[in-house]
Amino acid sequence: MDEYPKVIIAPGAGFCRGVEKAVEKTLHIAKDKENGRIFLDGELVHNREVGDRLRAQGVQLLKENSEVCAADTIVIRAHGISPQRRSHLEHFGCEIVDCTCPLVGRIAKIIADHSANPTILLGDRNHVEVEGLCGYSQNIYVCENLTELTQFIDAIQKNGQIHGDIFDHKCVNFSKMDDWILVCQSTLDMNFLEAAKILCAQKKLPIKIFDTICEATKRRQLGLRTLENCDAVIVIGGFHSANTKRLYEKMKRKMMSIFWIENISDLLGINLNNYKSIGITAGASTSREVLRKIYGEISKK
Ligand code: SF4
Repeated sequence: MDEYPKVIIAPGAGFCRGVEKAVEKTLHIAKDKENGRIFLDGELVHNREVGDRLRAQGVQLLKENSEVCAADTIVIRAHGISPQRRSHLEHFGCEIVDCTCPLVGRIAKIIADHSANPTILLGDRNHVEVEGLCGYSQNIYVCENLTELTQFIDAIQKNGQIHGDIFDHKCVNFSKMDDWILVCQSTLDMNFLEAAKILCAQKKLPIKIFDTICEATKRRQLGLRTLENCDAVIVIGGFHSANTKRLYEKMKRKMMSIFWIENISDLLGINLNNYKSIGITAGASTSREVLRKIYGEISKK
């Protein structure tokens, strides 16, 4: 094609403020630290480039066998951790820098304040944010999709309790049928929450629903609409990033030509020559720098 393609970046694409602040703060500590090492309690973001930058500054991942001493620093990532994990880290007796995003902290507070109530948490069971949030209540149950939520409500309404063999989860006794609450992982699909609200109303569940999807996630998901008329869409983000996967799957339902890449080098394997308009979106783990570089590269094609 002779002309350069029109390239559009969707509103809300890339690093959210929570992740950006966690990365900035860790780099800042690494620059100023004179003694001791810096450990991350889990990857700050699912992004190779950011991981490389942090490693280059001497920041390392905390492992089971890491020997932490008093001069070291442990950084808690933006996704937060459970109170039990926090107590475990405090046993090391070193400085702990908490980079938990305040919006995840707000979800944790809602769950803790209602820990006597049956709580449904909509989200990915194996995601670190959800694992951390589950530590704030004994009465919490995670539902990953609408089918699980339906089965869960039906089982509770019929038997008053649910057993581990159904969803590979602890036995939950929700015999008290009122004062339920529902919260969501901060990066949940907005359509899932809307469908869950309708289901709860249909099942006449006495439940208080907290919309805890964060504004950055909503902006990112709504921003996809601006890409619907593009010939092709590039989704940028870590291949293990749950929110990037969600963006990719949402667009895949609407587009034939969609590509998921993590970094600029991944563009090499993609032929974009025949597209007149190309849309770009990016998950919360993609820095503005990576986004800018990829935009520049695609615009030249
Ligand atoms: S996605 Fe939202 S809740 Fe999660 S770190 Fe970013 S701003 Fe905070």
